[in-house]
Amino acid sequence: MRNLIKNFLIFVFIFIIIIGLFSAFSQGGEKSEIVGLETLVNQINNEEISAIIVSGDKISVDLKNGKKEIIQKETGESFSEIVKNFSIPAEKVTKIKVEVKSESGWEFWAASILPFLIPFLLIGVFIYFMMRGVQGANSKAMMFGQSQAKEFSKDGKDKVAFKDIAGAKEAKEELKEVVDFLKHPKKFYDLGARIPRGVLLLGAPGTGKTLMARAVAGEANVPFFHISGSEFVEMFVGVGASRVRDLFRKAKKNSPCIIFIDEIDAVGRRRGAGLGGSHDEREQTLNQILVEMDGFEPHVNVIVLAATNRPDVLDPALLRPGRFDRQVVIDMPDLNDREEILKVHARKKTLVKEVSLRKIAERTPGFSGADLANVLNEGAILAARKNKKMVETEDLLEAIEKVMMGPERKSRILSDKEKEITAYHEAGHAVVAHFLPHTDPVQKISVIARGQAGGYTLKLPTEDKHMHSKSEFVEELSVLLAGHVAEKETFGEVTTGATSDLRRATNLARRLITDFGMSDILGPRTFGEKEEMIFLGREIHEQRDYSEKVAEQIDKEIDRFIEEAVEQAKKIIKTEKEKLVEVVKVLLAKETIEKNEFEKIVGKKVLA
Ligand code: ADP
Ligand code: ZN
Repeated sequence: MRNLIKNFLIFVFIFIIIIGLFSAFSQGGEKSEIVGLETLVNQINNEEISAIIVSGDKISVDLKNGKKEIIQKETGESFSEIVKNFSIPAEKVTKIKVEVKSESGWEFWAASILPFLIPFLLIGVFIYFMMRGVQGANSKAMMFGQSQAKEFSKDGKDKVAFKDIAGAKEAKEELKEVVDFLKHPKKFYDLGARIPRGVLLLGAPGTGKTLMARAVAGEANVPFFHISGSEFVEMFVGVGASRVRDLFRKAKKNSPCIIFIDEIDAVGRRRGAGLGGSHDEREQTLNQILVEMDGFEPHVNVIVLAATNRPDVLDPALLRPGRFDRQVVIDMPDLNDREEILKVHARKKTLVKEVSLRKIAERTPGFSGADLANVLNEGAILAARKNKKMVETEDLLEAIEKVMMGPERKSRILSDKEKEITAYHEAGHAVVAHFLPHTDPVQKISVIARGQAGGYTLKLPTEDKHMHSKSEFVEELSVLLAGHVAEKETFGEVTTGATSDLRRATNLARRLITDFGMSDILGPRTFGEKEEMIFLGREIHEQRDYSEKVAEQIDKEIDRFIEEAVEQAKKIIKTEKEKLVEVVKVLLAKETIEKNEFEKIVGKKVLA
């Protein structure tokens, strides 16, 4: 973009010069008045003229009062002929200095050719710049091997500091050391300490890994090179490796600095897995990264930060000493962190004073920093759409649901029958969830379509949870299947509305057995080595480490878990039928029910 503007400016500049030259030629550079032949004759008769220069068809006149004039005469008619034709007395003419210039000089040629030449010149210049543009694109194709790293210079205005990051105290503490290495390397060299080359940031998407890396660069006041692992992997083999070389060359030139490789798992996967060309390419790229990191001269002060949310798939070679031997975990924010993050982002928004960010934090368990930033932004957008001057709590609450499940789709009109089915389905989820002791309390039920879902039941945990018990999972299975069960119990058949519930329930049941070891029959072990392979897009490939017989047992166990969950849901829906119908009635009338209204119908939740 900047290039385009530059070209445009050059173009305008040349244009102005050409126009200037042209007008200089045609005007002779002086300000002259253009007058008619009669005026000239009158002036000669009145003896007002001091000198006349005839050149071609142009008569330039110097008046005695210092003014200048130009007269255009007929081609071929000489000055003496004019004098004769107008019968000007000879003694008047002899008093004037008359000079006749031949017009075969360059001025003549310029004056007659330039008007034709200039359009061609302009077109030529234009084509030249067009060609340059095209060549630029071409040469970009030729520069495949150059890294596409985005560089943030150390005094850019979007500089980030640690104070812009809420929570993540331990991570900040660890990274302060890195800042110290970058700022005062000598202190460490003098003691013979080896400065770490690589730091791996581990954390779920949106937990602020990129932000953290930028803050390190900001605090140390060094440039920051940002590249994503997926950018290394291109169609052409060898490109990744040469990009790595280029990136490290640039970084060494700018030492001290930080290289940040996002999604390093895209190239740093354990070698030896995967198929086809993309695999070779990854391996070459990874090798090049390792070579570069090993090859740092002792006093080059470049620190590589890399981010991933899949440390389990990383090649062990990456984690060896001298490479990414330091690992910093960035956790999902807990309640206090969430409140802090909201505060950081609320600084830039106009909120009503009454908004309790604590309450918003309580409502958003499992949200990452990026989600929370998004909630505040969506809230501001919703408030602006309602022409409010400030963001209110209700806007933020609505934003939470929007971020969780996509925008409301009020325009999707359900027929009365569809609405009734959806109401029973959602009421089924809600009532079953309410009467099971280990599930999260129901916060809101709605039959307004949102994102992909036809309706939704919102449950929120009362506290942040890091561990889940088997009873929780088993009850969760019941809740997932309750929509389906409620439809079947009420209408005798089911609709497609429960499809995604069923898929999630089946997946959960499988994980209970194969990942969590929660099946009493199959025992406490895992089944299958899951591996993500990038081959023609993304797919999960499972390597079986068990026999056909066990596979059958797993299938049977999945069936059993699901059957039991369905039975439990059925039992609750049958015994609490009246309350279910009551909830459905309110849903049909109002489309949404909030927690306190729901509890008026079903009573307070009894937790285990
Ligand atoms: P990641 O790289 O881990 O996917 P990012 O660093 O891109 O996450 O975070 C995305 C955005 O989320 C940041 O730009 C910031 O606005 C917000 N964010 C995430 N974590 C925090 C935090 N701890 N404090 C403040 N903002 C945060
Ligand atoms: Zn459902």
